[in-house]
Amino acid sequence: MNDAPTRLLADDGAAVSEAAAGAILTIDLSAIRENHRRLKARLGGVRCAGVVKADGYGLGASQVAWALAEEGCDVFFVALLAEGIALRKAIGAGSEIHVLNGLPPGSEPEAVASDLCAVVNSGAQLKAWRAAANRVGRKLPAAIQVDSGMSRLGMAPAEVEAMAGDATAFDGIDVRYVMSHLACADEPRHPANEQQRLAFERLRAMLPEAPASLANSSGIFLGPSYHYDLARPGAALYGINPTPAEPNPMLPVVRLQAKVAQTRSVERGTGIGYGHTHHAEGPLSLATISFGYADGWLRRSASAAWFEGARLPFLGRVSMDSIILDISALPPGKLREGDLVELLGPSQSVDDAAGHAGTIGYEILASLGTRFHRRYVGG
Ligand SMILES: *Cc1c(COP(=O)(O)O)cnc(C)c1O
Repeated sequence: MNDAPTRLLADDGAAVSEAAAGAILTIDLSAIRENHRRLKARLGGVRCAGVVKADGYGLGASQVAWALAEEGCDVFFVALLAEGIALRKAIGAGSEIHVLNGLPPGSEPEAVASDLCAVVNSGAQLKAWRAAANRVGRKLPAAIQVDSGMSRLGMAPAEVEAMAGDATAFDGIDVRYVMSHLACADEPRHPANEQQRLAFERLRAMLPEAPASLANSSGIFLGPSYHYDLARPGAALYGINPTPAEPNPMLPVVRLQAKVAQTRSVERGTGIGYGHTHHAEGPLSLATISFGYADGWLRRSASAAWFEGARLPFLGRVSMDSIILDISALPPGKLREGDLVELLGPSQSVDDAAGHAGTIGYEILASLGTRFHRRYVGG
């Protein structure tokens, strides 16, 4: 036995035992794989990448990437160089990892060392990546991103036009894709979709010939004219509905359960939680769960947990590490200390929870905390 103190790694959820944790996050890797298969079926023969930025939308980038690799997925997208470096370590050589936000100036050698593809978002980034290629004496891989109308990342149309006449602009660059991103793909009737698609067509005609990529999850559902050569889904893989106006065509992936820390009964008129924002309207049974805004559950998202089909509303404010539930709907003694109530899962989807909180499923997942016991199933 080594009794020396060890440093607790806050980001290593697997290290938190089920007994010690306040909440348990279950991630169904077989559902992620099935979702990738469903998207591929929609795409016909078009390639389907996996977007695993923000640690795989909070679910674990390396576990997700390994699961997708089993489906033959060998193109991944992260947002940041640091994420790309970590993912390369986790999955080894052999697949393409693209860094969507581009490489920060001066970081090119690190991207080369981890064999990453730069997403080139500006003329300056192109120059820096060419210089890096020159230094290492071989071509370096890149996706050229153009701004087709979202005004977030990618070369502006004027920049692309200026480059169109320059035969040497892409010397040293192995252009794997020309890509762009849709701003309104989750609103199929939004006119910006077609405007962006046409702008993308115009811009890519001025760039070196290369496979094209435009669609995110929702973009896949806009139809074949948006598919091009590579789709880049994230959200749909994780069970978020890519077609918000219609039933969710994807399988749910996450289940989040919190432990009951204590139960109690209170009399009519008793103040409940910080600020006494709520008072019992009558005698109530309460349960306090070990789960709060430090776990990524937004303070404004007052809502409910579920136990064996019963809805248990939150009462009062969400605290940092706890939430008080009204369990009066349950028979006395039914819910006990240590029992698990559900926050995300069959009774309440990620999209449901987001709706209650006035946000989107993406934010619910990406906010999930780091002190859960994480259980990966279907791997
Ligand atoms: C996040 C992102 C995606 C994935 O989007 P989803 O809506 O999660 O499918 C694709 N492409 C780019 C450029 C992104 O930033």
